[in-house]
Amino acid sequence: MTRLPDLQPGPGAVDFIDDAAMRGLLSAGIADPAQVREVLAKSLELAPLTVAETAVLLRAEDPVLVEEIHETARALKQRVYGDRIVLFAPLYVGNDCVNDCAYCGFRRSNPDIVRRTLDEGEVRAQALALEAAGHKRLVVVFGEHPRYDAEAIAATVRAIYDTHNGHGEIRRVNVNAAPLDDAGYRLVKEAGIGTYQIFHETYDHAAYARLHPQGTRKADYLWRLDGPGRAIDAGCDDVGLGVLFGLADWRFDTLGLVAHARHLQERHGVGPHTLSFPRLRPAQGVDFGGMHPVSDAELMRVIAVLRVAVPYTGLILTARETAAVRRAALDFGVSQIDGGSRLELGGYTEAPAAQAIEREQFTLGDTRPLDEVARELLEMGHLPSFCTACYRMGRTGEVFMEYAIPGFIEKFCSPNALTSLVEYLVDHASPATRVAGLARVEKELALMDDDTRKSELVERLRRIREDGARDLHY
Ligand code: SAM
Ligand code: SF4
Repeated sequence: MTRLPDLQPGPGAVDFIDDAAMRGLLSAGIADPAQVREVLAKSLELAPLTVAETAVLLRAEDPVLVEEIHETARALKQRVYGDRIVLFAPLYVGNDCVNDCAYCGFRRSNPDIVRRTLDEGEVRAQALALEAAGHKRLVVVFGEHPRYDAEAIAATVRAIYDTHNGHGEIRRVNVNAAPLDDAGYRLVKEAGIGTYQIFHETYDHAAYARLHPQGTRKADYLWRLDGPGRAIDAGCDDVGLGVLFGLADWRFDTLGLVAHARHLQERHGVGPHTLSFPRLRPAQGVDFGGMHPVSDAELMRVIAVLRVAVPYTGLILTARETAAVRRAALDFGVSQIDGGSRLELGGYTEAPAAQAIEREQFTLGDTRPLDEVARELLEMGHLPSFCTACYRMGRTGEVFMEYAIPGFIEKFCSPNALTSLVEYLVDHASPATRVAGLARVEKELALMDDDTRKSELVERLRRIREDGARDLHY
């Protein structure tokens, strides 16, 4: 079929981003400490915050108050997610693009980028390599181009699910691509996608217009803003939102993300499954003049405020960031990171050790292999998880929101983290990671009450280690 959808937002689509109102909230003066503490107390009840309440946290200046926000984020991360950090990898499938986003190496006016689209055999080869490393969860990434219509995306997803490498298999394929229409979303849902991610890049209308030239598809702000809501209405009830931090004021865009999350909940019945907050990275031929660099301290603030504002939404931090920044950010509420990522098309089988900017959308800050990332997580006291159970058990969208009550998460997520981790340790880990991981599993088991749930879990772990059983999820 190879066609891109007409730029026709769904019925009732509204542009709910009121720049003036949001700026008004952010310029109401330095936040009153009592008000900040009131908002933090509400968040500790696990209640999502309003846009105005989030603005109060973004107006806090006093380092003591900022630390209280960070503390609350740490506490919420621990309560909702425990020590678990879910691991995934990106798989770039095609970098042709009809858009001309000023910040992106794939923009159509960049003559120096090496353009490539993986064919089915090449996608399978990448999947085999990722499975050999131990990955179970991918996000497939596409430029926007008629070649990458919904059918092409669905075919890619089907090919990946169909590619097995011994015990290795990809069990969840998320998608990061341009917005689709209803028929397109239904098609990719039928192929079994996990999350459909669409980053709005910046919610600031003026910056958006400046960075996405008139006449390009991406210049249509409402089509993109309405994209995740249309996805939910068409049955893709697991959606991911994101902002590319560095394009406009970080406080404004943090509020934009919260406004978008609330809009989805209120108008489409389901909040976002994940939020992403990449920072602008060097990319081929990209001029950083006029951009709004976000410091490490500001990024930590963004993460902490998001954790507090939307306690049940997953937060994704990618390898755009350096290992040091990722280490620091984990405590504030990040729940998913990638490991062993390569951005070059075909990079998991063909790339040399060094990154090649002319083959990438942007350069990465953390290129460590998955095993090293997993081992470091263990050493730091986190629990690496390769779990993909929820959407496969139908716990998505509204249902997932109900399950996202701490008791339910513990019932499913903790044992699934252990079963999926032991699979990784047995099948893929280096000896050092295996030793560290198995010790951690024992420690987790020792903390559990000696009841039937524990003995059942112990038996599953034994079957994985001794009988070659796999995919024993709850
Ligand atoms: N082409 C689709 C789109 O724009 O929605 C799909 C994904 S695009 C390949 C993935 C994301 O990469 C973009 O949404 C943008 O946020 C991010 N990105 C683009 N240029 C970047 C850069 N220089 N540094 C960091 N992230 C960048
Ligand atoms: Fe194309 Fe996406 Fe890059 Fe924009 S961000 S140029 S749409 S690949």
